[in-house]
Amino acid sequence: RPRVFSGIQPTADSFHLGNYLGAVRHWVALQDTHDAFYCVVDLHAITAGHDPALLRQRTRVAAAQLFAVGLDPERSTLFVQSQVPEHPQLAWVLGCITGFGEASRMTQFKDKSQKQGNERASVGLFTYPVLQAADILLYQANAVPVGEDQRQHLELSRDLAQRFNSLFGATFTVPAPHIVKDTAKITDLQDPTAKMSKSSSSPAGIIDLLDDPARSAKKIRSAVTDTGREIVFDAETKPGVSNLLTIYSALSGRGIDDLVAAFAGRGYGDLKKELAEVVTEFVRPIQERTRTYLDDPAQLDKLLAAGAEKARSVAGATLRSAYERVGFFPPV
Ligand code: ATP
Ligand code: MG
Repeated sequence: RPRVFSGIQPTADSFHLGNYLGAVRHWVALQDTHDAFYCVVDLHAITAGHDPALLRQRTRVAAAQLFAVGLDPERSTLFVQSQVPEHPQLAWVLGCITGFGEASRMTQFKDKSQKQGNERASVGLFTYPVLQAADILLYQANAVPVGEDQRQHLELSRDLAQRFNSLFGATFTVPAPHIVKDTAKITDLQDPTAKMSKSSSSPAGIIDLLDDPARSAKKIRSAVTDTGREIVFDAETKPGVSNLLTIYSALSGRGIDDLVAAFAGRGYGDLKKELAEVVTEFVRPIQERTRTYLDDPAQLDKLLAAGAEKARSVAGATLRSAYERVGFFPPV
């Protein structure tokens, strides 16, 4: 079976609808057809400053949510990145074949470091995409389900795999992005030209899976919509309404055309009201299941430890062959 790998940062108290629709729902779908490895990337989550107790808590909540939306520990391997030391070990090697200029061109680094100020931005934030490449290459992943914002990082992962292979001999599978266009960029409710983001959206711009549905309904009601009054899909001229339609369609399974027809002659208020109901229905069972996992943290940690063990058996083999090719001594 082909392999998939993907990761998500525990940088917030909940995942938002962008994370779910752009990435995580594909993780769930792919576990039926692929050998699937998924990771809560806590090493990535310390690149922009963090609180230790909060990080540990968010890592658990992240894992609980992933199980709650349908990841099945029998069919896929879910683990916490810091429990698999091969990730930073391979990242060092890949960092040594990454150009400084090449890394400097990563737009996520440029955006995030600009927000933090150049003096405050960490070296970890700079090498983030190198660690991400290590994450993916350790599992010899064929495909990586992510949102559109990760396309450039995946291109770097591919380049590094090819470069290593040509320098030292065939070692890594070259991974392909798995980006499903319809929902690859869910936008901020308050700024429908920017992506919905854990770290840079304002709370009003994000719909969290674990938010109180009444609060989400309020955010949807206050979402920025566009001039005019017609409900039509046009991401260029009507980014706000189009984003709401995208979310509605993805959560309900109804086609965009079907929705546009159903809302003909009706106003933005109606769309927002119905969408709030759809979101409420969607998040309710997820929230319940998340709570159930969090009620038994010892059991949750055990599932994750088992995941890490499975992950290490694959990652360890890849790292050993990479180290050998690079010319390092055998492990003792
Ligand atoms: P941060 O702002 O801290 O980077 P994030 O919201 O971008 O957080 P990540 O953990 O970095 O979340 O990304 C997890 C996955 O969610 C990635 O595959 C990413 O491409 C996807 N993703 C994030 N935001 C969106 C979005 N608005 N639309 C679609 N996919 C998204
Ligand atoms: Mg991100």
